[in-house]
Amino acid sequence: MCGIVGYIGPREAAPILLEGLARLEYRGYDSAGIALVTPSGEMFVEKRAGKLANLRTALLDATPSAAVGLAHTRWATHGRPNDLNAHPHADCTGEITVIHNGIIENFQELRSGLAARGHRLESDTDTEALAHMVEEAYAGDIAEAVRAALRQAHGAYAVAVLHKGEPGRLVGARMNVPLIVGVGDGENFLASDVAAVLAHTRRVIFLEEGDVADLDATSISITGVDGSARERVVSDIDWTLEAAEKGGFEHFMLKEMHEQPQAIRASITGRLHGDEIRADELLPVMDAIVRAERVEFVACGSANYAAAVAAYVFQEWTDLPARWNIGSEFRYSPPPLDDRTLVVAVTQSGETADTIAPARLARERGCPLIAVTNTVGSAITREADAVMFLQAGPEIAVVATKTFATQVTTLIILAAAVAKARGVLDVAKERELVSALRELPDKAEQALAMGSHARELARRYMNSRGFMFVGRGVTYPVALEGALKLKEVSYVHAEGYAAGELKHGPISLLDAEVPLVAIATRSSLQEKLISNVMEGRARDARVLAVATQGDDAMLGLADDILWVPDTLEALSPALAAIPLQLFAYHMAVVRGTDVDQPRNLAKSVTVE
Ligand code: GLU
Repeated sequence: MCGIVGYIGPREAAPILLEGLARLEYRGYDSAGIALVTPSGEMFVEKRAGKLANLRTALLDATPSAAVGLAHTRWATHGRPNDLNAHPHADCTGEITVIHNGIIENFQELRSGLAARGHRLESDTDTEALAHMVEEAYAGDIAEAVRAALRQAHGAYAVAVLHKGEPGRLVGARMNVPLIVGVGDGENFLASDVAAVLAHTRRVIFLEEGDVADLDATSISITGVDGSARERVVSDIDWTLEAAEKGGFEHFMLKEMHEQPQAIRASITGRLHGDEIRADELLPVMDAIVRAERVEFVACGSANYAAAVAAYVFQEWTDLPARWNIGSEFRYSPPPLDDRTLVVAVTQSGETADTIAPARLARERGCPLIAVTNTVGSAITREADAVMFLQAGPEIAVVATKTFATQVTTLIILAAAVAKARGVLDVAKERELVSALRELPDKAEQALAMGSHARELARRYMNSRGFMFVGRGVTYPVALEGALKLKEVSYVHAEGYAAGELKHGPISLLDAEVPLVAIATRSSLQEKLISNVMEGRARDARVLAVATQGDDAMLGLADDILWVPDTLEALSPALAAIPLQLFAYHMAVVRGTDVDQPRNLAKSVTVE
C-alpha cells in the first residue's frame, strides 16, 4: 500500500504534491519521490528512502517550476526500502516516469522479457517493469501507451504516468487498488484517496476497476484499458481532512478492521495457482522443510495467538510436532535446537525485540528460520532464510486487527506448503483449502456486517466486571486474542482460557457480572465446548457466543450471538476474531478510551 498524488494545472506543482503526500504518509513511509515536467519539457526526478522529510530536504536545493507532476510515498512489497527502489521509476530514455501502488504479479516474466529485449532495469521493484512496458508501447500518445502496457500486466495497481514530451497530460489507472480524480477549477488531481486533494477540491471521481484517466488542466477523459469510453460521476465530498485520512471511519482501528477483506485478498495473492498452494518464497528452505523433525513458533501478543492457531494446524496436517512459544520466554529456556528444528518467527513490524532475540538464538544454533512479517526491509527479514510477507498494508492503530487475520491465512498457507513438501497433504484437502481461501475475503466482509450488533452488545455488556473468553482447539487462540483485544482497547479485564480448563480454577470467577464469551464456531470440538458453556451457565454467567451461520447449536444456550460465515476449521480463527474485534472496539468507544493509541502501549515494541 502506498500513496499516490498527481497534479496538472496553472499552479506550482511541487508544493501541492508534497502537501498531498503528507496527507497520505499514513499509507506507507518507506520512501518518497516526486517527478515534475518543466515548461521547457525537462523531466525532474527526486526520490529518497525514509520519510517524506528526507525528500523535502533533498528538494530544498533546487526544485524546478512545473505545472504538472506526480509524487509517491512507498510501502515496499518488492525490493528493499532504499533510494533505488523508491518511486518514481523511469524508462530507459528517462522520458517516462511511473508511480505505482500495488503488485504486478507477473513482474518476473515482464522483467525478463524486457531485459531480453535490451532494456536496463535498475531497481528490484515490480513497478519498474511498467515504465519500460510503457516505453515500448509509446508512439506519441501516453494514455494509449499506458493502456497497452496495462493490458499485459496482471495483479493490482493504481498508477500515475508522465511523459516529458507531453507536458500537458497526466495519466492514471486503477485495478483493485484505490485511485481518485480530484476535479478542480482549471486544474485536476490524481490521488490514492480523498485526503490528498481535500485542501483544493471537494469534487472527486472514484475510478473503478480497469479505468484509465487521461487528464489535462481542464478536462478528464476516462476509458477502459481496451480504449472504450467510460462515464463516471463526480461526487461531492463533505468529510473533514482528518476523517478523510481515516477513509471516513472514526478510528484507524475501525478502518483497519474493515480493510480485512482486502488484506486477506492481498495475503493470498500469488500463493494460489489453480487448485494448488504455492509459496515460492519458501524455496530457500525447502530442503530444510523436508528434513525437519519439529517446528517451533516464536511470537508475541496477537502474533503469538496466530502462531498458536498455526501450531494446532501443523500438528493436524503435517507429520511434525509443532509448538508455539512466547518470544520473551523462549530464549531463556529454549527447547533442543538444531538444523532439524524449523523456527517460524511471526512479527507484524519485523522489529519486535522479544521475537528477534529468539530468532537470532535459533540461527546461532543452526535452525532454518522462516519469518512471517508485514514489513519489507525490517530486522527480522535480515535474519531469516525465507520470508513470507503478510501484504496487509500499514497498520496504524496500535492494536492488531488486519495483521492477525493475515497472519492466520499466511501461516495456514505455510502449514499446507510444509505438508505438501513432505508429501503428506492430500490433494482433496489442498483443493478444499484453496477454495476456502478464495472465499475468505468475501466471508470476512460478511463477518464485518456484525458491526451494529456488536455495538448494541457493547452497550449491554459495558458494565460487566470482567470477561472469560473460552475456546477449544483452534478457537482457543481466538479466545486469547478476543480477551487481549478487549483488555487493550477498552481496559476491561478479560481472560482467555482453553474451555476445558474452566473447571480447573477460573470458573470460580463466573457470576451474573462476569460473562462467558464462547468461541463456539462449528468444529470437531464444538460439543465438548458446549458442555463447558453449560457449566458456566449453571453459575449464572451470561453467555455471549461467536457461532457459525446456519448452525443452531448455540441457539437457546447463549444469551447473545455474534455470527460468522462457515469456513474450513483451520481458517475459522480469521473470521471468528472479527466480531470480537468489533465488540472490543465498541466497548472502547462506549467507555470513552483512546481507541487508536491505548494507554501504556506502543505499536512496535523494540525493547525486551
Ligand atoms: N510493489 C511496489 C513496490 O514495492 C509498490 C508498493 C506500494 O504499493 O507502495 O515498490
